[in-house]
Amino acid sequence: MQRRADLDQAVFDARADYARQRPSSKRWSERARRVLPGGNTRSVLHFEPFPLRVERAEAKYLWDVDGHRYVDLLGNYTAGLLGHSPRPVLDAARAALEGGMSLGAMNENEVLLAELLVDRFPSIEQVRFTNSGTEANLMALAVATHHTGRSKIVVFHHGYHGGVLTFAVGDRDPVTVPHDWLVVDYNDVAQVTGAFGNYGHEIACVLVEPMLGSGGCIPARPEFLGALRDLCTHHGSLLVFDEVMTSRLSTGGAQRLVGTTPDLTTLGKYLGGGLSFGAFGGRRDVMAHFDGPAGGRLSHAGTFNNNVASMAAGVAALTTILTEEVLADVNARGERLRQRLNETFRARGEPMCVSGTGSLMNIHGVAGPVERYSDLAGDDDRQRELFFFDALEAGFYIARRGFIALSVEITDADVDEFVGFVADR
Ligand code: PMP
Repeated sequence: MQRRADLDQAVFDARADYARQRPSSKRWSERARRVLPGGNTRSVLHFEPFPLRVERAEAKYLWDVDGHRYVDLLGNYTAGLLGHSPRPVLDAARAALEGGMSLGAMNENEVLLAELLVDRFPSIEQVRFTNSGTEANLMALAVATHHTGRSKIVVFHHGYHGGVLTFAVGDRDPVTVPHDWLVVDYNDVAQVTGAFGNYGHEIACVLVEPMLGSGGCIPARPEFLGALRDLCTHHGSLLVFDEVMTSRLSTGGAQRLVGTTPDLTTLGKYLGGGLSFGAFGGRRDVMAHFDGPAGGRLSHAGTFNNNVASMAAGVAALTTILTEEVLADVNARGERLRQRLNETFRARGEPMCVSGTGSLMNIHGVAGPVERYSDLAGDDDRQRELFFFDALEAGFYIARRGFIALSVEITDADVDEFVGFVADR
């Protein structure tokens, strides 16, 4: 009881300290609330008592309007893999914009970017671009239901596939689009096998993240993804990997690491060089539904699908920065960070742990290990909130929920400093 009261008081004090040090952010938030419901236009960025407001960013740093500098360990929820000022990408995007901002016509870079993605991802024979990962998933589901002539879609509790494809609160989130969902537990082969046993001939596809990302960075067990592959093949359903987050785990995404090839893959985030981006692609016979001249019946619209800035930035990112070595390096650094954080939490006897894969991870308010969502039962959000405010105070920006996505700008020295901060809290 005493511990509970102490934690409540500690959170109260941390919020008060945070607010006291950020009068300009507070004023902006008050102004924002008059015209933006909740004071924001991207819900995940809100936290109590009010979010900090960023004035500018460069390389690995962010500065808020109150003059604080932070090492950015959030990397815009994975879209910021390249850091804030990747020179070749900025130059390419600027040059593209100088050559005409909004063409309403085809350009060369969309072909180059498509070729680069087809080369990299084992499952992608053909690809199309969207403005976001959400749209990419919506289109993948559309083509899967059309291709199979079926309506049911298997997804997983606490899976996240975009603003209108969220299963965080079960299968009744009011903003989620009304598909014929079958929502089952992640990493649970028996449950998904049961769903196929009951509805196999009605299932159009399985949509799955190779690591439950927003749901807490819980990696898929390799046998789970293998079982999904077998079930889909056996029942004539399509397997769709949402690699919007996990594509960074190797140049061929998580699918290359685990050796399971889906029928369709969705992408987004950093692959547009840090600008708005999404893509869906896969088997040629499935993507052929968008091939009008060859008799495909699906159309895929979008004013900004091939916008010059994202296309040029994506090409530059893939050709000048995101080599096999660079990705291996950032992911190995993430592995080391996670291991050291877990050792530190354990040594301090704190009821906290961190889960994830490579450069993607989430800090939890339970001792762990966290291998299934049910392992988060008892997660104390106050621990995560305190950690968050302590991290800001120490000059590290992470997500309020404890999410971290390293960028290529983060060095071993930054990792040492962050671990040092956790050890000395
Ligand atoms: N899928 C996954 C796995 C994601 O993590 C996200 C975004 N966090 C999306 C889809 C949606 O991407 P976007 O925000 O670009 O719509």
